[in-house]
Amino acid sequence: MRIAVFGTKPYDRQFLDGANAKFHHDLTYLEPRLEATTAVLAAGFRAVCVFVNDVVDADVLTRLASGGTRLVALRCAGFNNVDLAAAAKHGIAVVRVPAYSPHAVAEFTIGLLLALDRNIPRAWARVRENNFALDGLIGRNLHGRVAGVVGTGRIGALVARILKLGFGCDVLASDPVVDPALVAIGVRYLAMAELLATAEIVTLHCPLTPITRHLIDAAAIAAAPPRVMIVNTSRGALIDTKALIDGLKQRKIGGVALDVYEQEGDLFYADLSNEIIDDDVFQRLLTFPNVIVTGHQAFLTEEALTAIAETTLASVANFAAGRPLGAPFVCVATK
Ligand code: NAD
Repeated sequence: MRIAVFGTKPYDRQFLDGANAKFHHDLTYLEPRLEATTAVLAAGFRAVCVFVNDVVDADVLTRLASGGTRLVALRCAGFNNVDLAAAAKHGIAVVRVPAYSPHAVAEFTIGLLLALDRNIPRAWARVRENNFALDGLIGRNLHGRVAGVVGTGRIGALVARILKLGFGCDVLASDPVVDPALVAIGVRYLAMAELLATAEIVTLHCPLTPITRHLIDAAAIAAAPPRVMIVNTSRGALIDTKALIDGLKQRKIGGVALDVYEQEGDLFYADLSNEIIDDDVFQRLLTFPNVIVTGHQAFLTEEALTAIAETTLASVANFAAGRPLGAPFVCVATK
């Protein structure tokens, strides 16, 4: 099947080409991300392949439909950037990769937490300058700390296990679906408000929905224990960034590690090192000594990229053959 791959990076191409040896799709790699102005590039392609920051709203779907597109294949798990109702209206099916390597994201989350807690990026920057002083680098043990895991699905459950069994944290969780295996190892489920008011470390692993949008807002930060540490490797808009900055300025928040940011679509995945960044909120965030930001890379392991490529191309093959779309299936076309 002919597939227009939007927002292609060298690693996408490497892993999609590798997986395509089995599927023999006709892949056209496009550098721009999908949005209203670039949707025309998909004209004539029955399938488009997109990632987390491509725009797949009603306007874009209308343009894709008029160009003959019938399948949007997300090479990621989250699908908050897709207007599923509009897709169904236009007869466009949507598939995603619900689970590629939860270990990739869970391990990166722990890496961010340790880097933040023990000031590892600042220590490394000092040593490179032959500055071996330790002032300002004091961390705290994770052992015995109260860690709150918001969302205990594939990724959150792994994070909860590592924190509980690996570090000996007192792990709290909040999720409408209780995981009995986590309860069995001593993870305690609480209502969200109680978790946010109790946990010294909060790590976010729930999807972005209208309910979870700005889950961490001014009220949640005010109710949190002093020096709370917040880690977000899920979706940027789970956090109200302006409220986060206020909490940092008030010295209420002890540290923040982010792999995602609400306005990341304008920034991430591009080399902007020669540009002036217009986003003052993001730039302010980077000035705090107790904030670490990475550019949405928690998924970026060989194992995850292989699984993403294989699942995506298998879904397109199923679609082309009229076979059921199976597990990755998100929405059925109604037209
Ligand atoms: P999952 O669907 O397995 O788990 C999500 C969990 O969140 C579920 O258990 C669900 O019940 C729970 N949940 C839903 N609404 C909730 C709410 N209001 N409060 C608390 N919990 C709630 O998803 P996953 O594979 O574990 O992925 C989690 C998130 O991580 C995804 O939504 C995605 O946005 C993000 N993600 C980020 C990266 C990255 O590279 N940074 C990579 C993959 C996934």
